[in-house]
Amino acid sequence: MVGTSLALRLRETVRGEVYADEPMWRHTSFRIGGPADVLVVPRDTEDLVGLLHALADVQAPFYVIGAGTNLLVMDEGVRGVVIKLAGTLSDIALEDECVARCGAGVHLPALCRKVASWGLAGLEFASGIPGTVGGAVAMNAAAYGSSMGEIVRSVSALTYEGERVVLDREGLAAGVKTTRVLQEPLVLLEAEFALREDEPQAIVQRMQECLEERSRKQPLSLPSAGCAFKNPTGGGAGRFIDAAGLKGARVGGAEVSALHANFIVNTGGATARDVLSLMERVRDAVYERFGVVLEPEVRVLGG
Ligand SMILES: Cc1cc2nc3c(=O)[nH]c(=O)nc-3n(C[C@H](O)[C@H](O)[C@H](O)COP(=O)(O)OP(=O)(O)OC[C@H]3O[C@@H](n4cnc5c(N)ncnc54)[C@H](O)[C@@H]3O)c2cc1C
Repeated sequence: MVGTSLALRLRETVRGEVYADEPMWRHTSFRIGGPADVLVVPRDTEDLVGLLHALADVQAPFYVIGAGTNLLVMDEGVRGVVIKLAGTLSDIALEDECVARCGAGVHLPALCRKVASWGLAGLEFASGIPGTVGGAVAMNAAAYGSSMGEIVRSVSALTYEGERVVLDREGLAAGVKTTRVLQEPLVLLEAEFALREDEPQAIVQRMQECLEERSRKQPLSLPSAGCAFKNPTGGGAGRFIDAAGLKGARVGGAEVSALHANFIVNTGGATARDVLSLMERVRDAVYERFGVVLEPEVRVLGG
């Protein structure tokens, strides 16, 4: 009921899609999560600004997501409004000789393929990271020793009050799986990437190598949210979890992958509670065995 009346109010302002009581499992790669009161996919930046103002008027809490590939949404769902940007804000343009500008809602692998076709290198490491450009920049997504923060030239974002801000690379303050976008928090609209020229074929070859390595080492056929924990100093989280004998450990439908110990997979019908209990078990076992504190990488929403 709360969802329905809030959705009706927001439809007076928003031109994009507005759904009441929307099951969040449909919007996460984990395929887990109860209903959001309202889920909105704004049509463009102007629509998003209007939405932020409307949300301030009705004083509804809100959360911004990309494609939900790094999220654990609680079984009770999300009170308030989820603003989903995957599939909107989807422009990609060649800004300068070696600078690509890209909307936050673009699928990151699609950006990687596009810049490769322009003969621009630097994003090969990201070609298999699912999710949006906005999510990847906000999270400072990383793979094979490179990270988004290293190639960003600038980002354009909105404050929660709807004011535009532009940050350069330094202002973005990218750290391990965090940036100023998450800390403030801001709504990321677009990013510019500083790339370098190379042969398209050589770039595609490197992308292919990254993708092949992923399909060998990651459990890509089961739903997950990628790595459950950040890598601590002193080694990959997966190595500690494996050495603690936890590959294959289960709670309900959630399982520590036998292929990559830092992935928790949904083997069917896993709840958010299952995943959190399993993560707690993993944390405790790794701490007891090695004195290493594992910090969650997946972001928990709702509850
Ligand atoms: C199979 C698999 C493999 C993965 N491999 C990797 C990997 O190699 N490296 C890696 O770093 N990650 C990896 N991930 C995790 C995930 O794909 C990345 O973190 C991705 O960048 C998240 O993007 P998203 O759009 O799905 O963000 P979401 O999961 O929707 O959101 C993640 C966070 O970013 C915030 N956010 C999203 N968009 C915006 C925006 N426009 N403005 C402000 N905040 C925003 C959200 O509020 C949330 O806090 C993997 C995940 C899976 C399922």
